[in-house]
Amino acid sequence: MIRSRLFWKLFGTFVGLTLLSAFALGVLTYRWERQLLEQRAWQQLRQAVASSTSELGERLASEGEPGEIATIVDRLAEQSELRITAISRSGNIVADSLLGGDELQRHDNQKLRPEVAGALSNGKAESTRESRATGEPTLFFAQRVEHEGQKVGVVRAALPESQITGRLRVFAGALGIMTTAIAVVAALVTYIVVRRLVRPVVTLNDAARAIARGEYGHRVFVPGSDELATLARSFNNMSFALSKQVSDLRASDQRQATVLGGMVEGVVAVDRRQRVLFANAAAGRLFGFSPTQVQGRPLLELIRHHDLHGILQRVINRGTPGQLDMKWEGPSERQLAVQITPLPGQPSPGAVIVLHDNTELRRLETIRSEFMANVSHELKTPLSSIKAYCETLMDGAVDDLDNRMRFLARIAEQGDRLNDLIQDMLSLARIESEGQHVDLVPVCVDELALKCIDDHRALAEAKQIELTCGDGPALKVVADEEGLRVILNNLVDNAIKYTPVDGRVRVDWRSDGNGRVRLSVADNGAGIPRADLPRIFERFYRVDKARSRELGSTGLGLSIVKHLAQSFGGSAGVESTVGKGSTFWVDLPVSVSAGEQLTSAS
Ligand code: ADP
Repeated sequence: MIRSRLFWKLFGTFVGLTLLSAFALGVLTYRWERQLLEQRAWQQLRQAVASSTSELGERLASEGEPGEIATIVDRLAEQSELRITAISRSGNIVADSLLGGDELQRHDNQKLRPEVAGALSNGKAESTRESRATGEPTLFFAQRVEHEGQKVGVVRAALPESQITGRLRVFAGALGIMTTAIAVVAALVTYIVVRRLVRPVVTLNDAARAIARGEYGHRVFVPGSDELATLARSFNNMSFALSKQVSDLRASDQRQATVLGGMVEGVVAVDRRQRVLFANAAAGRLFGFSPTQVQGRPLLELIRHHDLHGILQRVINRGTPGQLDMKWEGPSERQLAVQITPLPGQPSPGAVIVLHDNTELRRLETIRSEFMANVSHELKTPLSSIKAYCETLMDGAVDDLDNRMRFLARIAEQGDRLNDLIQDMLSLARIESEGQHVDLVPVCVDELALKCIDDHRALAEAKQIELTCGDGPALKVVADEEGLRVILNNLVDNAIKYTPVDGRVRVDWRSDGNGRVRLSVADNGAGIPRADLPRIFERFYRVDKARSRELGSTGLGLSIVKHLAQSFGGSAGVESTVGKGSTFWVDLPVSVSAGEQLTSAS
């Protein structure tokens, strides 16, 4: 309360007004009392003179014994408590209640005293002046004395002003004490009233400041039913509503931040001067900044892209949305589709930039179109051959016995190729569509490898290729048996196909001790150039297209191997050196029971 300026303003004003009123009242009362006292004094003087004229008239007319007149004057003065003076018609003092005989002699003629001169000429007169006898300011009242129609002298009464001022001083003292007491009481009452008035205002002010600092939900208690109590109740309602609204806003903010943070698309909001207002985590990942530390920074510092800034500025200036496809050279090149929407307002206060990363989509689109081109090409080649042989036969070669059989054999060969191609494509499609849904069971790698070698022995011998098998332990992997057979067959097939006569092919398997089994097929054939290695598992990819086709390959075998291995929860890879040979491998998860066998076997 001591620090409340409102309190001191109100208290000061009220106390000031009270003091001013008390002072004004005091002055007025003092003046009024003074007037009253003066009126009474004149009244007293008048009465004293009036009551003495009849008694003194006869004495003054007969110019009687001065001693007798002096006795009357003294008595009258004693009765009225005034100075009474009897003055002769000629202006000489005959008797005076204040002056002795000697002093009377020394006194000059009174005829020229204003009250005496006035009384002699007008009957009555009064004056306030300094008395020669006492040297004090004095009130004089004089009345002419007549006897039998003749002016015989003047009677004068006098009262020193000090008598009035003395009484006034006593009155002023009492008035002062009373005024001070009233002022003190008034100040005390003012203090209590103003305190009671200001306290709720101070409390409300404190609560409003707390809310302004962000401490929502403050409540104040003001008893009673006056306007301040009503204001406090309204304040409490407002505070409650505000705190609810703020917590709702915070929750909604949090929800929005979570939604924006969880979005795959990058989102950046900027103001008119292209300073960042908000950026989500995806935008941070795309452009390599921390979303929490970029607020207020110019967008140009974070994303240096001329076209983006140009379109962004246009969107903000015109207030209409814009879009652009941009390339971003980050750690890896990204293809971004950018949508820019102006923030609502006229003029627009900024814009929101949404960035879709289309890199993967573009890559898939490229793969798909390449795949379509490859498929049509692969199907067209054998079909064209078949069509050409048929036309030749129809053109008459059907009657040529030697060529007829040769052409029909070629047609059958191309038909087989078409069949292989379609089979491989169907297998790939099936593996991709089944994906994770293959039934995985423990499969003995060693048994399957031996079986595969047996199946390919004739093919290998035809090329005088030494086909051997490692002496790995009995191991089980988690896979689909048919799928694993396809993997092994494809790899051993390729190894024999791309290894020249007198070469070597070896199938091996071993556990890596980390729950994986590596199954590998190594050859000492032509090998694969380093540049082709990253693409070797792609569909239709062939190192030497002409030679591969000659060998009746489809270019889908390794792709099938990779997809199958992945559907078993494993992976496929290759190590190769041109001229020295290649080693293709698949890593597959070991079966738990196989792990026990491994322990017992070792
Ligand atoms: P295909 O064998 O039907 O052509 P693949 O997908 O199995 O299709 O093989 C793709 C390409 O990889 C082959 O065309 C060939 O160039 C190369 N390749 C596969 N295996 C070997 C290998 N063991 N040695 C050398 N090149 C190979």
